[in-house]
Amino acid sequence: DRFVAPTPQLGEEKQDRAIRPRMLDDYIGQPHVREQMEIFIGAAKGRGEALDHTLVFGPPGLGKTTLANIIAEEMGVQIKSTSGPVLERAGDLAAILTSLEEGDVLFIDEIHRMSPAVEEVLYPAMEDYQLDIMVGEGPAARSMKIELPPFTLVGATTRAGLLTSPLRDRFGIVQRLEFYNIHDLSSIVSRSGRLMELEVEEEGAQEVARRARGTPRIANRLLRRVRDYAQVKADGRVTKEVADLALNMLNVDAQGFDHMDRRLLLTLMEKYDGGPAGVESLAASIGEERDTIEDVLEPYLMQQGYITRTPRGRTATKLAYLHFGIDLPARFGS
Ligand code: ATP
Repeated sequence: DRFVAPTPQLGEEKQDRAIRPRMLDDYIGQPHVREQMEIFIGAAKGRGEALDHTLVFGPPGLGKTTLANIIAEEMGVQIKSTSGPVLERAGDLAAILTSLEEGDVLFIDEIHRMSPAVEEVLYPAMEDYQLDIMVGEGPAARSMKIELPPFTLVGATTRAGLLTSPLRDRFGIVQRLEFYNIHDLSSIVSRSGRLMELEVEEEGAQEVARRARGTPRIANRLLRRVRDYAQVKADGRVTKEVADLALNMLNVDAQGFDHMDRRLLLTLMEKYDGGPAGVESLAASIGEERDTIEDVLEPYLMQQGYITRTPRGRTATKLAYLHFGIDLPARFGS
């Protein structure tokens, strides 16, 4: 397992839950999202209505589930959570929909992975709070309409482009989560430290933040391992030096890259002469799934300016060559 994977590792979700922000005020960073959601939630509450259906998209680990829970908490309603792949049949979704109470939040993670049959059931539910289901079989089959209470669907996905357009069009609110900057990630690390009753110096928090790939889940994971190191090898405090030594030991470099990022970048530079290289070829060369490259590795490398995506494929930037100390190809000039 990748140590800097943005997806949860075994047993981690429980630890994460304990430090997960509950209200918008504790949700650090994402200023645009926070500002907008404050207004939309305030307005819906003022009118005594359910919040409009909300789509949240962005790379894993940036706080989509956290935001869904905050929406429910701020609206003062219950949340029911499920995910696209879990909803195998239309009946699975119907069962959850009929269990909702007025104003409740239904959270569907990985909403792009719902089957078309399940998606069909969701349309009238979202639009008219109605459930259209078929009962019986053969000639006796008939369709039945069930009224649902007004509810809020919060859908999460890694890329908005993965959704069918009829589904995307039914969301009144769309929020895109961005990678966090070092300043916000440091605040997240400091906050987690406080909740974990751990002494974290400001510079220690910054060191962890710098290597966390813009992702709170990774920041919290790094902090847990730095805490172990501080406890055994130092006096328990997370200083810059302790964070640096611990993360070096874990092979997370100063940019937060690990062996998989290094392999992707080095393959692109050494085997494809810096690109452009198609994502399929790259996936085959490094022995990874195309989805892993597109959803997990690439977004951060692109955001940091190490690779670019062109219609002809992926290209390594000057920054990538400089990072690895590889001679710049002639196309970059001298
Ligand atoms: P996935 O798509 O993989 O489920 P996610 O985007 O839903 O990921 P979350 O589970 O919401 O990510 O967030 C991961 C952890 O990061 C949370 O448990 C929480 O502790 C922390 N976190 C996320 N966003 C924030 C934030 N804005 N402020 C503080 N902590 C955060």
